[in-house]
Amino acid sequence: MSDLRALPSVNKVLEQLSVQALIEHYGRDLVTEQIRKIENSLRQDPPARTPDLELVIKELEDCLLQIDKIKTNRVINATGVILHTNLGRAPLCKAAIEAINDQASGFQALEFDLERGKRGHRAEAAETLLTRLTSAEAALIVNNNASAMLLTLTALLKGKPVAISRGQMVEIGGGFRMPEVFRQSGAKLLEVGTTNRVRLEDYQEAINDGARALLAVHPSNYKVTGFTESPALEEITALAKSTGILSIYDLGSGAMLDTSQFGMAHEPTVQEALAAGFDLVCFSGDKLLGGPQSGIILGRTDLIARLKNHQLLRALRVDKICLAALEATLREYLYGRALTGIPVWQMIGRSQKSIQTQARYLQSQLGDGQLVPGFSTVGGGSLPEETLPTTLLSFSILPQKMLKLLRQGDPAVIARIENDQLLIDPRTIQPDEEEALLLSLKKSLAQLKR
Ligand SMILES: *Cc1c(COP(=O)(O)O)cnc(C)c1O
Repeated sequence: MSDLRALPSVNKVLEQLSVQALIEHYGRDLVTEQIRKIENSLRQDPPARTPDLELVIKELEDCLLQIDKIKTNRVINATGVILHTNLGRAPLCKAAIEAINDQASGFQALEFDLERGKRGHRAEAAETLLTRLTSAEAALIVNNNASAMLLTLTALLKGKPVAISRGQMVEIGGGFRMPEVFRQSGAKLLEVGTTNRVRLEDYQEAINDGARALLAVHPSNYKVTGFTESPALEEITALAKSTGILSIYDLGSGAMLDTSQFGMAHEPTVQEALAAGFDLVCFSGDKLLGGPQSGIILGRTDLIARLKNHQLLRALRVDKICLAALEATLREYLYGRALTGIPVWQMIGRSQKSIQTQARYLQSQLGDGQLVPGFSTVGGGSLPEETLPTTLLSFSILPQKMLKLLRQGDPAVIARIENDQLLIDPRTIQPDEEEALLLSLKKSLAQLKR
């Protein structure tokens, strides 16, 4: 039987040299609270061994380590999926990180006009950069693309019928259905056409039935193939104009560059969406744009002004850190440095040779693994079924176990398994991650071979 009288007092534990070191790191209050908790539970549920000072300190260290682990970890993305929603989508460009560092560590002229010394408009710089880049009349930045759609529909079309093609009722992952978000706005969705075919007459019929807007949604994460038909974007906007109703395009990923130059399908660009004549175009800032999480709305000045005056905007607006990052990212496009400066485009544009060289280097450093040809994907609800050829480093020993070891390693490495092989795709490894990746791979391989 254990003897609870041997349990050291809280003060006695706190006095120990090793506990002093813990106090330095975790603070006295937290350490004291943990000691009390541990001793209480020892009293309620006495262990077989008499609980002494050593046992209490050991438990204390374990508890505090658990608290350390309550955090979002940086991970190495070795999946080859460039825009991985579960891994935070787009990594930011260097310029964006510098801008965040610079602006977030002090104060910022966020809503202050330095020229006139008066209150200024939030997000003015980022919006100006956006209109310059795209030739849109006006711009507005919100929290994400779902917010962009929610605000647009709420402010402009609450209680009014909005026509949307049945084949574009998108679920974007995480169980979120855009049509449900649309409905939250109070707009009434009028589904037109069938899943695979919609004609201009279907939209016309919806207008006859009272539709006040035509909403096009880019089917980002799926493809309708085979016996399909849908009107050209220009036809949709022309019909809306001629009948005096709005046309809105939920573009999804917001590419500013042509994806077909990398051998993939052409993802409709922001510029094309505007040129097609939509009154408003909405897209995400952290998909193919490669910036921070945000939603961008471009289009007619009068409509953007109505969105800016809507009370809901206060709940959907972005913070200063996001704006600093977005401005810096947009500048990379403006100065023609997107392909070399923005990680998403660096990863998409990486040459096969550079990937193969890195795969070979990893293999030689590890003395293990095989090089096999394979494919990377863009992900993040962009370019479904489109792939980029890559060279994978493949491991066949206990792939499930290795996957778990890598995931729980430090740093954590996220890999994928295909045909019983654990695969590492160098395409999504960031330039400063190579050595850390090697370390994690070496550790897990050593553990597997033990
Ligand atoms: C990704 C996506 C959304 C949601 O965008 P978030 O920025 O994640 O809110 C909405 N519509 C389409 C078509 C999308 O692809």
